[in-house]
Amino acid sequence: MMPKRLTLISILLLLCTAANAGSTVEKVRIWSEKNKTRVVLDLSRSVDHNIFTLRSPHRLVIDLKDSRLATSLTKMPKGAGTVRSIRSAVRSNGQLRVVLDLTESVRSRSFRAGPNSEYGDRLVIDLARAGNLQPVKRASESYRPGRDIVVAIDAGHGGYDPGAIGRRSKEKDIVLSISKELARRIDAEPGMTAVLIRNRDVFVDHRDRIAMARNKKADLFISVHADAFDDPRANGASVFALNLKRASDEAARQLELRDKTAVSVGGVSLHDKDEVLASVLFDLSQNAALSASLDVGTRVSREMGKVAKMHSKEIKQKSLGVLTAADMPSILVETGFISNRSEENKLRDKGHQRRLANAVLAGVRSYFYTNPPSDTQIAMNLRREPSQRVRHVISRGDTISEIAERYNVSPAALRRANKLSTNKIRVGQTLNIPVFAGG
Ligand SMILES: [Zn+2]
Repeated sequence: MMPKRLTLISILLLLCTAANAGSTVEKVRIWSEKNKTRVVLDLSRSVDHNIFTLRSPHRLVIDLKDSRLATSLTKMPKGAGTVRSIRSAVRSNGQLRVVLDLTESVRSRSFRAGPNSEYGDRLVIDLARAGNLQPVKRASESYRPGRDIVVAIDAGHGGYDPGAIGRRSKEKDIVLSISKELARRIDAEPGMTAVLIRNRDVFVDHRDRIAMARNKKADLFISVHADAFDDPRANGASVFALNLKRASDEAARQLELRDKTAVSVGGVSLHDKDEVLASVLFDLSQNAALSASLDVGTRVSREMGKVAKMHSKEIKQKSLGVLTAADMPSILVETGFISNRSEENKLRDKGHQRRLANAVLAGVRSYFYTNPPSDTQIAMNLRREPSQRVRHVISRGDTISEIAERYNVSPAALRRANKLSTNKIRVGQTLNIPVFAGG
């Protein structure tokens, strides 16, 4: 039976490869206003493309690599503005060709837009009568943007190590769920990337956790845990920055004595924790930038205090001066006590998990916007002042995120520059675009 099965698998693999290679044009939209015409191709995914114009008659040709039209797209929209009609054809090399028949010679530009709340990947083509189109220099064309800030998120425990155990849940599951939520939020932040140390129920050795974060050149290490205590009344979240001297002394003592009674490692109570965690703390603290850890920890704690009851508001700050060299600020977030019935219910609640993740993100963002590593995009954006103001008149089909993408500014910067509190814009409205100089 083996060969037959293998064949089936190969066919499936082939099918998957074919499906993954190109894109599907799901919809074609067109608007025209004054002298401008915009054509949007809604794509199943971003795809390589090539655009060129041809004369007599005037045409604009869009070739999409390994692409096809969706079966639901039976008819192209009618032409508008400078576009007389839209046609398509599949070429022998597998490219999909979309042709815009034009009424006259035009200037064109195209840009790819990523998914937003309303649309998926898009290819946008703007046409204007020759001479009408103001070229917009996208900043990314003229300078190499800085790198993303990398945040390693370490969901505690996992696999055969459940961590603390509540009535209905295990620490390892709750912290994984919160960690994933946090990672999603960080990934959605411009200039930030999350690395999940574990993204499923698996045990990861503590040394590997640190090593993974280092390999990914993490700028911050956040370990996410939940507490348990003999007294079910104990409750509240806490944030810990690790304290080199006390951590090393006491973790060493802890490991040596195999002492399971309450001790404190850099402010982290170890009464419920095992040797693995103790040595994680030990290892982290050996390498952490303590003052940075304290700073980010304080900000995260402050934000968490807005959405959760805090067990301890203060971050331990002793022996601040002992740390000289450091490579990775690290904090440990205790999200609450799963040994407390009502807190366990809260921690299981997706809404509460989202609020916690948001609070941690707010603290992290506040820290990095104050202390951005100098080679990061966030540092560069903070250093740059808008060099010129461009005015953009809203056309039908424009969205804040699309405009932001087009001019290579963040949606937040765009809203700020126009004192907008929401993403609502109206056709004909003029936006000030803060355009940053290259360099
Ligand atoms: Zn834990």
